[in-house]
Amino acid sequence: MTAPQPGFAGARPDVASSSSRLDALPIRDDLRGQTPYGAPQLDVAVRLNTNENSYPLPDEVVDAIGKSLHAELRDLNRYPDREADALRADLAAYLGLGLTAAQVWAANGSNEVQQQLLQAFGGPGRSALGFGPSYSMHPLLAAGTGTRWIGAFRDPDFGLSAGAAADAVAEHDPDLVFLCSPNNPTGTALDPSVIDAVLGAARGMVIVDEAYAEFARPGTPSALTLLPSHERLVVTRTMSKAFGFAGGRLGYLAASPAVVDAVQLVRLPYHLSSLTQAAARAALAHRSVLLANVDAIKAERDRVVGSLRDRGLRVADSDANFVLFEVGGDQRLAWRHMLDNGVLVRDVGLPGWLRVTAGTPAETDAFLSALDASLSALEEK
Ligand SMILES: *Cc1c(COP(=O)(O)O)cnc(C)c1O
Repeated sequence: MTAPQPGFAGARPDVASSSSRLDALPIRDDLRGQTPYGAPQLDVAVRLNTNENSYPLPDEVVDAIGKSLHAELRDLNRYPDREADALRADLAAYLGLGLTAAQVWAANGSNEVQQQLLQAFGGPGRSALGFGPSYSMHPLLAAGTGTRWIGAFRDPDFGLSAGAAADAVAEHDPDLVFLCSPNNPTGTALDPSVIDAVLGAARGMVIVDEAYAEFARPGTPSALTLLPSHERLVVTRTMSKAFGFAGGRLGYLAASPAVVDAVQLVRLPYHLSSLTQAAARAALAHRSVLLANVDAIKAERDRVVGSLRDRGLRVADSDANFVLFEVGGDQRLAWRHMLDNGVLVRDVGLPGWLRVTAGTPAETDAFLSALDASLSALEEK
């Protein structure tokens, strides 16, 4: 955790010096001048910038994970189960819908799962398409795997209609399509008819990133229900958000068994350590305790949406654990004001808009008072 730099506004002084050091190396041309991706990790009292779960793990789960890890320690001289069979069976059981381990694959975060999908189905000479504003890691993972990125757009109200989505896919004919539902940073889930239309128009793979599925409002169906009829559909999930397991690094996918065979061609052998597998299995075994906070987080999410609308601000509907809202001025100034008031939110680079994670009731209170201070400071300008 680095302390806030004076005048800090998202720049990374550490990175600036490393990129000039890099000039001396024969690095890939497309990486020259690039800076590493990542939100600022600042030591602020209220951190609502990376959509983490604000609740620490309960003692009962801490103890269970501790026991599971301890049981692995003597065998650390051996490589882990390369196929992570037991973990994949547990993940399939969690998803339900009759899914089996053969349809599930796990890696160190859903970012790694998506990287493996790009390695298997993208790469040099191939392309991937996504609808912005969306998760910035999708184009970055494409770049890292030499996959050409095609940036299509969501509607001005951040929605995405089946017709517009299918037209963009038909026009560009990509090898992969990335959909995100609920979408980060806008928060809204896609209707399954949109996913269905994209599957109909696409020749290639269709990846639906459902990192926030557990936070969706009632009646929001998951793309998992479309799996039986679509061989080229992949749904990615993560334990980083609802499970509060971001530090544990465990993401997974559900798809046809052939997709699981495909990613095995590009995965590193033993990519999931035995400690990661054991910790994730213990967390999954205690999922009712871990997921118990999801309802409280959804209530805070709805409270944030309502409170912001009461203030007359424009707010995107949210099925996730975060809210995108318009500040009515320069979002960089608002971001800075709120940081000065001890609340870190996310500037996702959308002019006039900021994203805030829904956390505990106390964090919502702190956010709303920092926001009010910031809004009156912006008005005085
Ligand atoms: C947070 C997030 C993820 C999670 O990535 P992990 O590597 O599983 O931690 C994936 N997709 C989206 C859209 C996210 O916002």
